[in-house]
Amino acid sequence: MFHDAKARLDSAAATLGVTAEVVERLRYPDETLCASLPIRLDDGSIRVLKGFRCRYNEVRGPTKGGIRFHPSVGIDEVMALAFWMTIKTAVVDLPFGGAKGGVAVDAKGLSPRELEGVARAYVRAFAEMIDEDRDIPAPDMYTGGIVIAWMTDEITALERRPMPAAITGKPRQLGGSLGRDTATGDGAFLCLERLADRLGLGQGASIAVQGFGNAARVFARRAAEAGYRVTAVSDSSGAAHDPGGLDLDALASHKNETGSVEGFAGALDRDALLTTECDLLVPAALGGVIDADLARKLRCKAILEIANGPVQPAADAVLEECRIDVVPDILANAGGVIVSYFEWVQNRTGDYWAAGTVAERLAERLRTSTDAVVERAERHACGLRQGAYLLALERLCAAIAAKGTQAFYNGGGAGDA
Ligand code: NAD
Repeated sequence: MFHDAKARLDSAAATLGVTAEVVERLRYPDETLCASLPIRLDDGSIRVLKGFRCRYNEVRGPTKGGIRFHPSVGIDEVMALAFWMTIKTAVVDLPFGGAKGGVAVDAKGLSPRELEGVARAYVRAFAEMIDEDRDIPAPDMYTGGIVIAWMTDEITALERRPMPAAITGKPRQLGGSLGRDTATGDGAFLCLERLADRLGLGQGASIAVQGFGNAARVFARRAAEAGYRVTAVSDSSGAAHDPGGLDLDALASHKNETGSVEGFAGALDRDALLTTECDLLVPAALGGVIDADLARKLRCKAILEIANGPVQPAADAVLEECRIDVVPDILANAGGVIVSYFEWVQNRTGDYWAAGTVAERLAERLRTSTDAVVERAERHACGLRQGAYLLALERLCAAIAAKGTQAFYNGGGAGDA
């Protein structure tokens, strides 16, 4: 995964003509730490879990990125996701670098008491990093709401002072921002609106969404309200399909009652959703789901990536050949980190914003960022993903150049791109 992430860096660096030493600087994380987290389970036994935190690059500011609890978590995945956060924060011009963390654990198999133990152990293990000016964690898979509340409580207890800006994605009562819970889906929809003409998506265009979790639900609702037809939705157990457009409220009720979207409408296999005919395909569940073979079978005009890394780099060229435009994850799902930044600002100033202010500022930042990505793509006659990488790389190079000798331990400030 990390190898794949760096392939896209190399390609953008070659287009921009970035010096080899800057590329070398960006090929390696600033620091990646592993820790053993001993947890006492409810049956009295001890389990030692593996925890990770990667601070990829802090040249543009304190590092920012979520913590995920998932059995697949490992050092390679954490470094790749931290690299992507470095690129993403640069694309949307936040004063942050990138980071990511995680614990290799099946959170669904833990009791609330055990889960709290993992959350607190994670913070104790990485407490030296966690700080509003150094490394600012946030939620990711299976670390929403209450997990972030436990983590915030733990760092506050360890440091013996309030530290609201050291972790974002907090519940509102602990200093969380209005609009954070819907920010990723809202942001993805704002990108769609800005790019609809370019992507050839008119009124009533059909959308297939892989996943029906937090981000996908918000996105699908906004899209349907704006007149798009959400014709297919899947989750981990199955799919629902209606060429006339699904009733999303009824679908959400069905999922709440039965645990899945399966059996709501139509007959569509879970994985067949990706190759179903639609105008816009929105992978909003897992990474790596579209490889080069599958890319050849897609029947959509465009892809909007809400999941992190749903398209494998080997599929990029196939999609270009098939003239399928891709709105990349580092732009399309950046709404979450943008509102996390707003939360950090509000915590530091003590000035809490109304929901409308958050929404306006999110929209403004995504408009500006989307236009900047399009401008790079047009200037270099490339796709939006490459345009986003070029924009990020320009900003990272400028920061490395501005740091001069500090960017390299023994001096020599490079960074001319
Ligand atoms: P979530 O856990 O709320 O939802 C995930 C959804 O994916 C669930 O509906 C689940 O059933 C479904 N799913 C799992 N395996 C599947 C499969 N094989 N086929 C179809 N569906 C499957 O997660 P979320 O917060 O909505 O995040 C979704 C994606 O967006 C993730 O890749 C995440 O990294 C990315 N993302 C989320 C945020 C955020 O703020 N929520 C921000 C940036 C990126």
